[in-house]
Amino acid sequence: MPGFEFFGDEERKELNDVLESGILMRYGFDAARKGHWKAKELEQAITETFGCKYAQLTSSGTAALTTAMSALGIGFGHEVIMPCFTFVASFEAVLSVGAVPVLVDVDETLTLNPDAVRKAITGNTKCIMPVHMCGSMADLDALKVICGEYNLLLLEDACQSIGATYKGEMLGTIGDAGTFSFDFVKTITCGEGGVVMTNKENIYLNSDGYTDHGHDHLGVDRGADLHPFVGYNFRISELHAAVGLAQVRKLNSFLIVQKRNHAQLKSIFMQVPEISYRVIPDEAGDSCTFLSWFLPTEEITRAVVTELKLQGIAAGNFYWYDNNWHYIRKWDHLKNAKTLNILSDVQRNALVQLQKTDFSSSDAIMGRCISTAISLTWTPEQIREKGERIIAVVRQVLQQSAVSA
Ligand SMILES: *Cc1c(COP(=O)(O)O)cnc(C)c1O
Repeated sequence: MPGFEFFGDEERKELNDVLESGILMRYGFDAARKGHWKAKELEQAITETFGCKYAQLTSSGTAALTTAMSALGIGFGHEVIMPCFTFVASFEAVLSVGAVPVLVDVDETLTLNPDAVRKAITGNTKCIMPVHMCGSMADLDALKVICGEYNLLLLEDACQSIGATYKGEMLGTIGDAGTFSFDFVKTITCGEGGVVMTNKENIYLNSDGYTDHGHDHLGVDRGADLHPFVGYNFRISELHAAVGLAQVRKLNSFLIVQKRNHAQLKSIFMQVPEISYRVIPDEAGDSCTFLSWFLPTEEITRAVVTELKLQGIAAGNFYWYDNNWHYIRKWDHLKNAKTLNILSDVQRNALVQLQKTDFSSSDAIMGRCISTAISLTWTPEQIREKGERIIAVVRQVLQQSAVSA
């Protein structure tokens, strides 16, 4: 799953270029940097690899989401519709620009349920933000239709789905803007980092300025730049960009290994007819970072999770329903509006309202779901052993539950 599993000579070489010049900043110092512009090169490589017109690197995926929202003009008084299964960064970014995160149900795609999105639209809705969780995609055609009908922006949080495609287009390049994270556990890593991708020049120019204090980057040097708007500092460093540059060149080889390992594991799971799988709107586009599977009931799923732990083979098998980072059920800090800064009344009221919001249809899905992370380093032998041990646990639990029924 993560690019750090394949950290090696390529990354060290790119890093050494930066260490030898000592210019760790992405802008300026033209003479001293000896021709090395790692952040610029990585942005160029991203536009080529993913097929988008523009890419703006940031210091994290969370910063990329905040930047994208600012660049799209999302702020106070606006609502952003997003799924209740994601990573906390998605709502953090919405709150950071003064907007209201409107959390809605997921379906068996483990991403936004288009019907739930429709029901959540109000006069204040500005944007739909699908989160392409666990390597695979939301039903983008259905969401695009809704965006068209209500004149809404589409912002893709593709932080977890680097290299996945939907009908031939790369996730993150399909909406008005899209983001990747290059944090340490993502498909390619910079250590820390992220990117905003877009095909619209004004959104790119806004992102470029916003991540660097509003600089227009048109002056002969930084001191001569103008500031058409107020920005922030979400710059990536040359050190981080150097690592990313080596990683993006290896993405294709990561994806090949990931898909092969995923296919082998799934073929073992397929021996158990009671196991079903995540619905994937375009199966061929799955980046295969995870195999996400369902069991018939929450009770059976919990028993399987418990037994995997008892047998010491739970590592890499994620039961999101009990997870503090990824699902609404455990987000008490959000539901109690626990922030350090003072929120607007509109934001606080919307968050507190989440305590009473009905997420039972998502619960019915997430309570039965386990996602198995696909490692790049597994040998075929290890996959066979892992898979066989997991399905033995599943069969044992299914048998016990049939006996007690
Ligand atoms: C990792 C992640 C982010 C945030 O990325 P960071 O680089 O860790 O800030 C945002 N959204 C999702 C879905 C993620 O998985």
